[in-house]
Amino acid sequence: MDGKIVITCACTGAETTKAQNPALPITPDEVAQAAADAAAAGAAILHLHVRTDDGKPTADVARFKEVIQAVRRKTDIVVEITTGGAVGDTPEERLKPIAALEPEMASLDCGTVNFGDDFIVNTLPTMRAFAAEFRAHKVRATLECFDLGHIYASRMLIKEGLLDEPYHYGLVLNVPGAVPYSPENLVTLVRALPPHADFTVMGVGRSCLPSQYDAIVNGGWIRVGFEDNVYYAKGVLAASNAQLVERASRIAKEAQLEVASPDEVRKYLKLRS
Ligand code: ZN
Repeated sequence: MDGKIVITCACTGAETTKAQNPALPITPDEVAQAAADAAAAGAAILHLHVRTDDGKPTADVARFKEVIQAVRRKTDIVVEITTGGAVGDTPEERLKPIAALEPEMASLDCGTVNFGDDFIVNTLPTMRAFAAEFRAHKVRATLECFDLGHIYASRMLIKEGLLDEPYHYGLVLNVPGAVPYSPENLVTLVRALPPHADFTVMGVGRSCLPSQYDAIVNGGWIRVGFEDNVYYAKGVLAASNAQLVERASRIAKEAQLEVASPDEVRKYLKLRS
């Protein structure tokens, strides 16, 4: 996507709490408003987790449907749902919304990973089952990699003919227990990608801001949002997800990049219309 950059907003996540940032959107209306504000600020993709009314993460299909409908009433942002779910969800639970809702995009975790003291298990057979389900329902995968080995696992799936181009990766750095963020680590991950792959850099916690500059330097795309980071600056909470997207848009513009629109992403990533 020459001269353009794609910004994803991960507005809620599974683990962030209102205690960490009271502006965290949880209810369908809150998420829809956060999505609309993020889109107005330059986000083309919404990365979506959903919660129950009391804030617990859920992979419930009805809840996903309710939230997606609320988002659709407010904005045409591309919706990418999680299949990573939350710590403790089974692969079957995480996969259910793909067939039931046929979203435009969804995340596909490419390996087992520590999440602090918790962990999420993704074996190769699980990944193959996910890839088959994505293909059956024409859902574009964001291949989320938390470590170098995950990229090679995704390349095994590509070699087996289980994934369709164009390949879009999510390179997640700084999850405790996985690969820490550094410019060198990002370059190592980028060099391991298959030819012609696009990638979004997801820097968790304090790496959120430097990783945006680093994404631009390496020709990647940017993700921001409360799933990854709730601060605007050291010790200063972000007022909203949109505030983080606004800054990402400004950084991109200073680098002479235009922010891609949702429809440009649909065309470029060949999303199901
Ligand atoms: Zn997520």
